[in-house]
Amino acid sequence: MPYRAEYIWIDGQKPTAKLRSKTKIVPDGQEPPIWGFDGSSTEQAPGSESDCVLNPVFIAPDPLRGGDDKLVMCEVLNTDMTPHESNNRAKAAETAEKYGSHEPWFGIEQEYTFYKDGRPHGWPVGGYPAPQGGYYCGVGADEIWGRDVVEAHTRACMDAGLAISGTNAEVMIGQWEFQIGPAGLLEVGDQLWMARWLLYRIAEDHDISAHLTPKPVEGDWNGAGAHTNFSTKEMRESYEPIVAACEALGKKADLHIQHYGAGIEQRLTGLHETAPWTEYSYGVSDRGASVRIPWQVHVEQKGYIEDRRPNANMDPYVVAQLMVDTVCGYFEETGVV
Ligand code: ADP
Ligand code: MN
Ligand code: MN
Ligand code: MN
Repeated sequence: MPYRAEYIWIDGQKPTAKLRSKTKIVPDGQEPPIWGFDGSSTEQAPGSESDCVLNPVFIAPDPLRGGDDKLVMCEVLNTDMTPHESNNRAKAAETAEKYGSHEPWFGIEQEYTFYKDGRPHGWPVGGYPAPQGGYYCGVGADEIWGRDVVEAHTRACMDAGLAISGTNAEVMIGQWEFQIGPAGLLEVGDQLWMARWLLYRIAEDHDISAHLTPKPVEGDWNGAGAHTNFSTKEMRESYEPIVAACEALGKKADLHIQHYGAGIEQRLTGLHETAPWTEYSYGVSDRGASVRIPWQVHVEQKGYIEDRRPNANMDPYVVAQLMVDTVCGYFEETGVV
């Protein structure tokens, strides 16, 4: 039987790229082949030379359509098969190769906000809900909006074989989180982008949209981040590399902030469980630091660190690549490991 393959890719919109997808009917017995699209409609090519190439990089069973149908995460190539300028995965692949011996792992906490009728889901018309405080990990119809979407999304990620490791309702009303990981450098990006697509697609059936806006509501409301938990083989074995990784990130703090998602200055204010974007800090158990060493990691003297700075709208290929470049580069330069 022929099957449906949903080709998913990242477009060329700036400063924040968007997901696109389209369906191909693939003949029985064939793998999803290389395909193409009109790059002039996705800010990836001029109209006169509009063709771009879709190269499958990660294929999963389609949990929504079922049967033999598949989801096909793609990278975008030029017609000469070189990586397109918007293809951050290809750049990350070079880093994955260069520092592969350090065996980097990532766990990304994707926060997001549901919107309905043009406002955050659960927000009353023309007014404000009760101040935040009871919504985080809440239960009950006065605190929770959109749980049916969250449940369907979690199941879909599991059925697609993604490394989803948990979900929770967040501090702001209508805001939620899911985590992908631990997974390797390219794997975490492939899976997080696919999980984002599944979220948008499932919410669509409920007439709800999910957004990665980093600061959905001004004022005394938490923003949406993508805390990035990171370890190397050495960090999983002893404590000295944990501290060295925190130090390394501090030496390139400005570079990281520039690549951690558009609008990061609005979110990293120093309030609402963030450190100000202008000042780098790290600490054990400190949710007001840029980078947190979880308390169990300090107790066990090994494990991972949590970079709390990335925005919800970050590109996981970019963030993961930068963390590996900075931390593993520092390990090798200083001979700390
Ligand atoms: P928080 O306490 O900050 O809310 P979460 O439980 O939401 O943390 O997310 C932690 C993430 O870190 C999970 O995705 C988990 O799989 C991941 N993780 C656990 N151990 C490691 C490790 N050694 N390296 C990288 N990521 C890890
Ligand atoms: Mn979390
Ligand atoms: Mn969170
Ligand atoms: Mn966290």
